[in-house]
Amino acid sequence: MNLQDLAGIGKETAERFKELGVAKPLDLLNHFPFRYDDLRIVTPAAELGRSAREDSPEENAVGTIVWVRERRARRLAIVEAELADDSGTFVAKWFGRSYLMGALRQGMRLFVRGRAQRTLAGPAMNVATHKVLNENEPYRGELVPIYPAGKDLTSRKIRQIVQRNLAKLLTLADEDPLPKTILRQRGFPELCLAYGEMHAPRTPEGAEKARERFIFTEFLALALAAQMKRQARSAVRNAQALRVPANLLDELQLELPFPLTAAQQRVIAEIWNDMAQDAAMNRLLQGDVGSGKTLVAAAAILLAARNGVQSALMAPTEILAAQHAAKLAPLLMPFGIAVEAIFGSQGAKSRASAVARLGAGEAAVAVGTHALLTEGVDFARLGLVIIDEQHRFGVEQRARLRSKGTAPHTLHMTATPIPRTLAQSIYADLDLSIIDELPPGRSPIETFTLRRSRLDKAYDFVRKNVALGRQAYIVAPVIDESELALTSVVAESERLQKTVFPELELGLLHGRMVSREKESVMQRFARNEVQVLVATTVVEVGVDVQNASVMVVLDAQRYGLSQLHQLRGRVGRGAAQSYCLLIAPDEANELEHLDILTGSNDGFAIAEEDLRLRGPGEFAGTAQSGLASFRVADLVRDIAIYRDAKAAAEGIIAGDPELVKPAHAGLRALVEGEPSARAMLLSS
Ligand code: ADP
Ligand code: MG
Repeated sequence: MNLQDLAGIGKETAERFKELGVAKPLDLLNHFPFRYDDLRIVTPAAELGRSAREDSPEENAVGTIVWVRERRARRLAIVEAELADDSGTFVAKWFGRSYLMGALRQGMRLFVRGRAQRTLAGPAMNVATHKVLNENEPYRGELVPIYPAGKDLTSRKIRQIVQRNLAKLLTLADEDPLPKTILRQRGFPELCLAYGEMHAPRTPEGAEKARERFIFTEFLALALAAQMKRQARSAVRNAQALRVPANLLDELQLELPFPLTAAQQRVIAEIWNDMAQDAAMNRLLQGDVGSGKTLVAAAAILLAARNGVQSALMAPTEILAAQHAAKLAPLLMPFGIAVEAIFGSQGAKSRASAVARLGAGEAAVAVGTHALLTEGVDFARLGLVIIDEQHRFGVEQRARLRSKGTAPHTLHMTATPIPRTLAQSIYADLDLSIIDELPPGRSPIETFTLRRSRLDKAYDFVRKNVALGRQAYIVAPVIDESELALTSVVAESERLQKTVFPELELGLLHGRMVSREKESVMQRFARNEVQVLVATTVVEVGVDVQNASVMVVLDAQRYGLSQLHQLRGRVGRGAAQSYCLLIAPDEANELEHLDILTGSNDGFAIAEEDLRLRGPGEFAGTAQSGLASFRVADLVRDIAIYRDAKAAAEGIIAGDPELVKPAHAGLRALVEGEPSARAMLLSS
């Protein structure tokens, strides 16, 4: 059946439906109203404008016309009618609808709906919809579904089409994928009934329950997929269970100039415990910038090395890989563990010797970029894989690195705090370790918002800090000049060098430079030969220059809170007090969200706020992965339903790990059909 086979849909309407993502009749059945106008409750005339609720500012009234007249305000025609009921009278107004003058007459009974307010002359309503009632016709309002609409395709039109075809559309509903037990336990309507309630509800509660059912179903698909992966992984016991020496943590502590934080100790214990099992670890390590993740990675590598297996750490850029190597080497050296680097721009000779040592099992650790994936880079006994900023790698890339070992333990790392609720759902197939504590003694970065017209002040501040021997980052959103009125990093760095900081050494860093150039600029910045680094967001993650104490972000309104927090994390890594200056255009309003940054340095709290403001798509990797692509469900609003769905999924998979029981055929189809569940099955 085609869309055009439905009553009321011609070629043109079908085209308009397509723009709304409705291509087939089944899509129309799944095109749900986002709210319902409740026309059942009539407000007495005398009460109008008094009790309008915020979620439904329109009110309904029924009255008899006392008089009708037409007025003109400037060039706009206004038809006014006084309506009376038992409680009193009010004035109903229609704007720009002169033709009603002939249609409305004294004595008619009218239903009206609109926003009402109190005026000196009594209640008045701007009428949005009205209906003439027969003299003795009892008023019987209904719940009117309001649909996501499009250009030239109104909610009203969609409603009419759906109502005319509802019986036919309902025959398209599949068999209910949810087992009867779940329907009973949760009081959910069966699938076909639920569709009916969505499009033609009898009560708001009925519509609510139906919606909950669809939300639950979407979440259940994701949770089932995650649980299937977990179960499958833990069933295969082909990983090497590593032995954890009793005093290993003390040994590590002895080599450090500072005590491990409680969070680091807890997370190291979680990781070591996983690595001691013969089911491969699959864990996500999250920690805010500067929380000390490198040390935790070193602890995992140390345990692997003690058990005679090798580790590989893969980072998305050469800058990050080089930095990891530089930080890991001194941490691991006291234990006799040498780090080999593998990256793209490496000379053939040094690559060959690293490859030889890894292949022979002489080197315990390889740190590198995608170059680690190249053929010929082989390991004697790869037992631990660490993937930094895991969302920046594709599924096959992660799998390819793991395939260089036999069921290696895997640790994913990210410096982008993801709200716990979000992580527990879209990464439900991973175990989570969270470092929720910064090492002591850091003074928080001071953050200010400045208008663009005061940019000179920001640059004066940079100059002052450089005079004190420190360094600064200046971040701009685009590389070249563009139609968008955004600051170009190339143009701004030229301008800065010529007119603002002629006395300073400036460096330029952006994503279109070749990696050798990038590397060289970073190294000169690290050695303080460059005092001010003008860059795009390539400096976002992981870059660590302790002497840098000022971060200036141009066009800060462009970025999400989490990303700004990441950028800010480039400073405040040394002892000096550090500052972050967020520059926003003079004309931009709605900058309150920047206040959240000036008020907090807690990456997880900021991430929660970001999730609330911008939804899950804002988080690194979620939008592209498809893991959070739901039709009705919303991970923020509906998190309680998610938890229930997850619990249900655990119960189901415990009894039927591969969903092969006949009673679960519908669930199996659900997992294979829902986009988020499919993404989960394909992930990591
Ligand atoms: P992340 O990778 O999580 O951003 P790093 O591992 O780079 O953080 O650590 C940031 C800085 O904090 C490093 O200079 C590191 O030496 C230091 N550090 C790590 N753990 C501690 C600790 N327990 N106490 C004090 N300093 C620490
Ligand atoms: Mg780090």
